[in-house]
Amino acid sequence: MYWQTGLIKSLLDPINLIITTDEAVVIADKYPKARHHYLVLPKEDIASIFQLSKKHLPLLEELHLLARNIIEIRGESYERFQIGFHAQPSMQRLHLHVISKDFVSSCLKTKKHWNSFNTSLFIPYETLHAQISNEGHIQRLPKDRVDELLAKPLTCNQCAFVAKNMPSLKEHLQEH
Ligand code: AMP
Ligand code: ZN
Repeated sequence: MYWQTGLIKSLLDPINLIITTDEAVVIADKYPKARHHYLVLPKEDIASIFQLSKKHLPLLEELHLLARNIIEIRGESYERFQIGFHAQPSMQRLHLHVISKDFVSSCLKTKKHWNSFNTSLFIPYETLHAQISNEGHIQRLPKDRVDELLAKPLTCNQCAFVAKNMPSLKEHLQEH
């Protein structure tokens, strides 16, 4: 589908590139789900995490280095961010999410948005790196597991609060 190639279009326009190296670029997420939300993408045409193998470990390390760089450039602290991949990505071209843990954003609207960053649907960089290193590939989650994770309660990422709906979670996140 055409919308799945939106990231590739974005990274072809130099105006979007905040950092560029020989191997990778950093762009701003067009629909940020927190105060800071960046994507790190390889220049090589790798569709998703499911194409990764051991030969990509140095590239993954470069993506992570750029994630650290963009946080530093923005004058933010590393501990306030989560860095990783969606277990079930929707957009083409491998992309590493670099997102601040506040999750304060008008683009954060649905339970799916929340649970895709705050359950096992989000694979931290270190976890994915270790999995590629040990097993050589990433396996797709079964559909019923994805549905189960998407249906999880709206638990705050900073305390034990469980929200009854997204408006209440968003109000709560503002207070942190
Ligand atoms: P994922 O679910 O991991 O595939 O996430 C795709 C991300 O790309 C989402 O966070 C979207 O907000 C973001 N996005 C969608 N279209 C664009 C675009 N054209 N340029 C930059 N980011 C985009
Ligand atoms: Zn809380």
